[in-house]
Amino acid sequence: MRVLVVEDEDALREQLVGALTAEGLAVDATGSGEEAVFMGNEYPVDVAILDLGLPDLDGLKVLGRWRAEGRLFPVLILTARSRWEQKVDGLETGADDYLTKPFHMAEVLARLRALVRRSAGWASTLLETGPLAMDTSSQMVTVADKEVSLTAFEYRLLEYLMLHSGEVVSKATLTEHLYNEDHDRDSNVLEVLVGRLRRKLDPDGKLKPIETLRGRGYRLRADLGRAGSA
Ligand code: CA
Repeated sequence: MRVLVVEDEDALREQLVGALTAEGLAVDATGSGEEAVFMGNEYPVDVAILDLGLPDLDGLKVLGRWRAEGRLFPVLILTARSRWEQKVDGLETGADDYLTKPFHMAEVLARLRALVRRSAGWASTLLETGPLAMDTSSQMVTVADKEVSLTAFEYRLLEYLMLHSGEVVSKATLTEHLYNEDHDRDSNVLEVLVGRLRRKLDPDGKLKPIETLRGRGYRLRADLGRAGSA
């Protein structure tokens, strides 16, 4: 999952980037509203954290310009301003959720997860396909009720595939949503990681949850429930 952080206070921005990176998320960050407009329009953003008080361009204008360009990723507004009119303005401009400063980092993470899950069309915190289940609030992954231990990156990879289960996800799309712009993008590395994730989820090779579609990408099977009994 790729997060765009727009916050002009250096210490707070670095704190956000650090916490999100530690969660295994790909993070792009800026303190400039103009740069944020560019990044939101050009990068494959899954969710954005947006401060309203920016030095060059107001956060609400940034949001308005993303929405005018048809960029519909969910946006969590961070603001020191708690006045009701500004919340209403933000919601009318197309914000999805609000946090008033100061806030707890755990709350930011929980809100982000909820926004991404809802924008992918899942109402519950539990993502499931057949015996494979992911609880996005506890971040626990189970196969047939047995817990599977994943690294932060493996978790993000599986989360992206589960949020798009049944869809073909190209390697380029996965790379874009799992790594930020600065990362060295090597598709061999992704293949190795997918292989490792497969072995952890399916050590005896019976379930085959992740299909490889040659030249097209990967697909997490949405019909896993039926596969076991067939
Ligand atoms: Ca600010």
